[in-house]
Amino acid sequence: MLRVLIATSNSGKLRDFAGAAKTHGIEIAGIPGFADIPLAVEDGQSFEANAEKKAQYYSRFAPGEVVLADDSGLEVDALGGAPGVHSARYAAAQPHLAVANTDDEDNNARLLSELAAVPIEQRTGRFVCVMAAARDGIPLATFRGSAEGMILNAPRGSHGFGYDPLFYFPAIHKTFAELSAEEKARYSHRGAAFRDALEWLFNSAPGM
Ligand code: IMP
Repeated sequence: MLRVLIATSNSGKLRDFAGAAKTHGIEIAGIPGFADIPLAVEDGQSFEANAEKKAQYYSRFAPGEVVLADDSGLEVDALGGAPGVHSARYAAAQPHLAVANTDDEDNNARLLSELAAVPIEQRTGRFVCVMAAARDGIPLATFRGSAEGMILNAPRGSHGFGYDPLFYFPAIHKTFAELSAEEKARYSHRGAAFRDALEWLFNSAPGM
């Protein structure tokens, strides 16, 4: 069975990847000793830049292996694309300067307060996930997935993580927090980026 190394400590992301991997008969694993590796700096201005930084950095700790890392977030049209690359730190006073992630609950509360005056039909947005592959510190490829939806004015559902309970996916009339792991893998930005990364791993990755 093909084993793919994923560089993340986010348990919600790991669950999503495990759900997606299951449908492809693939095993995912973390970087050995990941918890002891100092965190990569995520100061890029785009999902691509940050995903690539993470993949390059963490791949140095798994010599010879292809390492995948992702950077993801929520873009809300009425907020000019915010929280975007700052999604994990949106509740901080200055998200673009914050170094530590803020709680999902606080991030959701900030999102609701920013959108309080915005009518439902204008609350469009998307989740974006960019996956980057690297080996021995050398970038190999990036893959982008997205999922279009609407931001509700109250949470719904108890699965998932992050902004999932506020993200309504009209295509199946559910929030992302109302999806099973398999459904999230099928419809989500992360599932889409992961599928493209796997296709590349199977068919065109150098030395695989
Ligand atoms: P990062 O990719 O580690 O910088 O963090 C991405 C942040 O975007 C997460 O902490 C969440 O707040 C948000 N996010 C990304 N993907 C998802 C998702 O699938 N569901 C809910 N929130 C997400």
